[in-house]
Amino acid sequence: MRAAKVVAAMTDAGTQPARNWAIVMHGGAGIIDRATMDPQTDAAYRASLAAAIHAGADVLHRRGSSLDAVEAAIRCLEDDPLFNAGRGAVFSAGGSIELDAAIMDGATLNAGAVADVTRTRHPISLARAVMERSPHVLLAGAGADAFSVHAGLEQADPNFFFTERRWQLLVQQLEQEGLPIPPRPTGAPLQPAAPVAEAEPSGAHKFGTVGAVALDRNGNITAGTSTGGTQAKRWGRVGDSPLIGAGTYASNRSCAVSATGAGEYFIRLAVARTICALVEYTDRKLQQAVDEVIHGQLSALGGDGGVIAVSPGGHMAWSFNAPGMYRARLAEGGSLEIAIYNDEP
Ligand code: ASP
Repeated sequence: MRAAKVVAAMTDAGTQPARNWAIVMHGGAGIIDRATMDPQTDAAYRASLAAAIHAGADVLHRRGSSLDAVEAAIRCLEDDPLFNAGRGAVFSAGGSIELDAAIMDGATLNAGAVADVTRTRHPISLARAVMERSPHVLLAGAGADAFSVHAGLEQADPNFFFTERRWQLLVQQLEQEGLPIPPRPTGAPLQPAAPVAEAEPSGAHKFGTVGAVALDRNGNITAGTSTGGTQAKRWGRVGDSPLIGAGTYASNRSCAVSATGAGEYFIRLAVARTICALVEYTDRKLQQAVDEVIHGQLSALGGDGGVIAVSPGGHMAWSFNAPGMYRARLAEGGSLEIAIYNDEP
């Protein structure tokens, strides 16, 4: 019986009033600067975050589960080429798209994740299928692609994920690093005459990973994350997003966390699980715990990025040490908050 395995929710005193449902999302963190963002792009990001969070909130409002809400919200951003997840994902140095995703159910501690998948339109749904329909937690590469077909998930041609902007950014980065430029993917649209990607300074990070954490009316929380990883990644690199405890974690005993940023640092600090442990085993409030790990531990190690979190009591938090993080939150009876830059609340 599922109920027998449910992890009891702990009450958590925080600064915000308790909510019956709540959802928080991120669309990546990094060098996101007001000065270099044109108003149309700024508005497009905000509109996309609003649509995605409403998709999740509708599920919660109709008494749906936090699992369904997180999946629904992330699927929206996976289809949006603005974000580095699903369609619009960054390219590896070899010129391929290799997608990672994870989902974790705080009620049962069940989790599912995939790494380096190439043909699933919605990797977050594949992560959920791993959790619910396989005996495993993490599947990678060709095996994960095969499981996706076996599980009946929607398949997409690798060119479905191709965007000209990401391709040009890859070429820019490889040129800056003196690495070979892979051939343009077969079947990709013809190269336009004029560049469509802004020139980026060498080493500039824009982590467009997407994530969602949600609390449902039954008091259960879920975390999910989906990404193309880091641009020009090599050798089958896997980041923090699909690693349970690093980029994604949820337990009804503490909180649900999704991360974005330089994955190598988040892996070494087990960021998501560390935040949950601080909440579970100390008297830290949710906001204190996320700030301590991001501004304390992550900054001290030299990493950049951020997290979103929600507790079973409906407290919502975010924290990041980069110039910006695309983010949004909404709770029952509250108003939608959307922000991008670090000078916004
Ligand atoms: N954390 C992701 C990774 O390292 C990147 C991102 O957040 O955009 O794969």
